[in-house]
Amino acid sequence: MRPVYQGWFADATSSYENAEYVVFGVPFDATSSYRTGSRWAPQAIREASYNFEVYNPHYDLELSNVPVYDAGNLDVEVGVEDALLEVETFARRLYKDGKLPIMLGGEHSLTYPMVKTSGVDSVLVLDAHLDLREEYGGTRWNHASVSRRILEDVTNSYASIGVRSGSKKEYEYAREEEILFYSSDKVRDEGIKPILEEIKETLGDTIYLSVDMDALDPGFAPGLGTPEPFGLTPWDVREVIRFFAPRIIGLDVVETTPEYDNGETASLAAKLIREFIAASTHAKQRR
Ligand code: MN
Ligand code: MN
Repeated sequence: MRPVYQGWFADATSSYENAEYVVFGVPFDATSSYRTGSRWAPQAIREASYNFEVYNPHYDLELSNVPVYDAGNLDVEVGVEDALLEVETFARRLYKDGKLPIMLGGEHSLTYPMVKTSGVDSVLVLDAHLDLREEYGGTRWNHASVSRRILEDVTNSYASIGVRSGSKKEYEYAREEEILFYSSDKVRDEGIKPILEEIKETLGDTIYLSVDMDALDPGFAPGLGTPEPFGLTPWDVREVIRFFAPRIIGLDVVETTPEYDNGETASLAAKLIREFIAASTHAKQRR
């Protein structure tokens, strides 16, 4: 018999003390520019996680044996700067306690405090958008500026995959600053694996992975704040996760907007997170 939804991520039955992975949600979407609603994603992703088997056949691993704790949702402020500070405080504690945080967004602006507190060598972003605007909607902390802030304040060891949208200014900035990004067209033409082999050398030993769900084609993931056609496939994204899981020390899955689909996007988000937990655990067991 399948378990029923109990308010936390499926198989997240560990205590905080024993946990290696800590899932938490941030129901925040105040700077969303086109359509809001990613605040509902953390619960939708948790609910969707109960559809799946405990057993992961690819890694021959029972997810119920992995120590995962679900900390629930942060009760964040409406203002973006206050919300980011709250995420920062929480994330700092998780890293200090040796946990691997898995954040369920919420919008993409939330990635900044996650990266800032991680002490990570490199950042890998999956996104349809460059997110390199100097500011947007009157704030430098908008979701459309998140990669710009990371590059300016945290690290320039950075790569983005799935890109197909940005202003002329953003593309110019990316070229001038020699920012590493791969379009979704390039992934389709050349395949994801050669690109990962190429990035592997560029990125450092530890990686923070941010998955903006709009990296995926809206045909696969329609429940988005800013859907952008001609995107990545679920197989591409799963390959990125499997490939880099041994080096990933923090993960977020952001921008799912559940009211614009019939659960497909939340289901995909939940599945990708479960795949990450399995891949990361498998890598630790082999060490
Ligand atoms: Mn984004
Ligand atoms: Mn995006």
